[in-house]
Amino acid sequence: FFMWTGLALPRIRIEAKRLRDNPRFLAFVAPGRPRVLVVTGSSPRRCSAPDGDHLLLRAFKNKVDYCRVHDFDIYYSTAVLDAELTGFWTKLPLLRAHPETEFLWWMDSDLMLTDMLFEPPWDRYADNNLVVPGWDDKVYAARSWFGINAGSFIIRNCRWSLDLLDAWARMGPRGPVREMYGKLFAETISDRGPYEACDQSALVYLLVTERGRWGDKTFLENSYSLHGNWAGIVDRYEEMRRDPGGERWPLVTHFVGCKPCGGDDSSYDAARCRRGMERALNFADDQILNLYGFEHDSLNTTAVRRVRNDTGGPLDADDVELGRLLHPMFRAA
Ligand code: UDP
Ligand code: MN
Repeated sequence: FFMWTGLALPRIRIEAKRLRDNPRFLAFVAPGRPRVLVVTGSSPRRCSAPDGDHLLLRAFKNKVDYCRVHDFDIYYSTAVLDAELTGFWTKLPLLRAHPETEFLWWMDSDLMLTDMLFEPPWDRYADNNLVVPGWDDKVYAARSWFGINAGSFIIRNCRWSLDLLDAWARMGPRGPVREMYGKLFAETISDRGPYEACDQSALVYLLVTERGRWGDKTFLENSYSLHGNWAGIVDRYEEMRRDPGGERWPLVTHFVGCKPCGGDDSSYDAARCRRGMERALNFADDQILNLYGFEHDSLNTTAVRRVRNDTGGPLDADDVELGRLLHPMFRAA
């Protein structure tokens, strides 16, 4: 016991001093590298679609792979924390309770990371507390609820964010409140009917009606695909892969309207959605499997084949990209 305290105390003192001098130091893993917690989740109930739970598992595996490469933490919730905040509103109460983290990154269950090496440019957001995929003109001028996407957004762990979440969640309680706000949104937002409020239109409503309060600290990001709609992406992965100097791969492929878990709102051809998910998962997985010297036979199948014979010296891979995949800790900010 004495030996332990003798050895450990000086370190504890140093840590305590660092914490006193800089209360947020735990929130950064290195200068310019904030600690990030990815938060995602799905319903506590099993899926009604027969392949739904398997797809959710694979979509979660994809997020775990991405988080491992970037040294992010991940939390998967299957609880509805607030009985009133059901459906797409469940995400809001989850975005708190982690003092050690600088950013929380919400990811819908139906999105996949499809550029495993890309990391958000944290420096760019130094003056912002919320980063949402979107466009200034579509939000503030056109007042469109498609001006942003609420399936993937990054929020700083701070007082401002808790205030925003409070204001945002206030419009979510199911029943009369949600219906009342739906009607209000139809008057303010240019392209939305008076049906019940969703979290995405609620955020647009806050930005439009209280721009001074929330807009300043909100970064509408469109220089890379913090969210990317699957329909325009999933048939082009081979083409993107063939041309490394070409367009940037989408960071996120989001299966908006596809309902991997089941449900009745199938606004798209269900078979095309399923095929697209398979392809996105395999495209992303190939980037990981490459580390092991394998890749999928094609993006349409689960079968894999060897593309490198490096079993003799698995640590000799000199590919810079592979090195980055292997050693996220040592990557530059
Ligand atoms: N979600 C959840 N628990 C639920 C319902 C939804 O965690 O009970 C999450 C899930 O990650 C989902 C997101 O909330 O992707 C958005 O929900 P929605 O029903 O709108 O699905 P989507 O818009 O993704 O089709
Ligand atoms: Mn979604």
